[in-house]
Amino acid sequence: MRLVLLGAPGAGKGTQAVLLKDRHNLAHISTGDIFRHNLKNNTALGLEAKKYMDAGQLVPDEIVMKMVGEKLAEFKPDEGFMLDGFPRTVAQAEFLEGLTKLDGVILFKVADEAIVKRLTSRAVCKNCGNVTNINEHSVCPSCGGELYRRDDDNEETVRNRLRVYHEQTEALVEFYRKRDILLEIDATGMPEEVFARVIETLES
Ligand code: ADP
Ligand code: ZN
Repeated sequence: MRLVLLGAPGAGKGTQAVLLKDRHNLAHISTGDIFRHNLKNNTALGLEAKKYMDAGQLVPDEIVMKMVGEKLAEFKPDEGFMLDGFPRTVAQAEFLEGLTKLDGVILFKVADEAIVKRLTSRAVCKNCGNVTNINEHSVCPSCGGELYRRDDDNEETVRNRLRVYHEQTEALVEFYRKRDILLEIDATGMPEEVFARVIETLES
């Protein structure tokens, strides 16, 4: 199965991807994670992407498409994956159509104000990547690791990322609706509740 996870930043795509990964044996391809990994290793790609990420802007299409093209080339035709954070523009979606056939696009729907709240209190475990709330935990509740806040989770950048989502990414909702592969999910509430809705929609 090949899926795209679509939704605003902070809609919970990454969290749901981790849950889905085990259930359906799908690889999780997060373009944001690939950029952050590159940045950590000081690669040219990472340093280039940082300029945009810190401002809450999209990394230019050519850079992202080349990176995703190379990544998807590693997959055999029968291997499934979930794309998390890609595509984010119509140009990226058209590029993806030329690379592979999708089985579904899951749209995670959450109101903007709820997203601002979620992201400005988000903390990520340095050790295991677990995502938690800074107000509820001082260390990772699953492994005891140190928590950190993403550079782009400050309120100003979050609002920018939301604006960019509405201006450049939201058009993909219509794009995929027209192709009749859009699955819409109410992404409010706890991760487990959202996951139950995902499973119900995906498996019915
Ligand atoms: P979020 O969904 O929480 O905003 P991501 O981890 O998916 O965060 O992405 C972080 C940043 O990486 C984005 O704000 C953007 O700068 C860059 N990025 C990730 N994926 C893409 C993409 N498909 N196209 C352009 N930029 C991207
Ligand atoms: Zn942890």
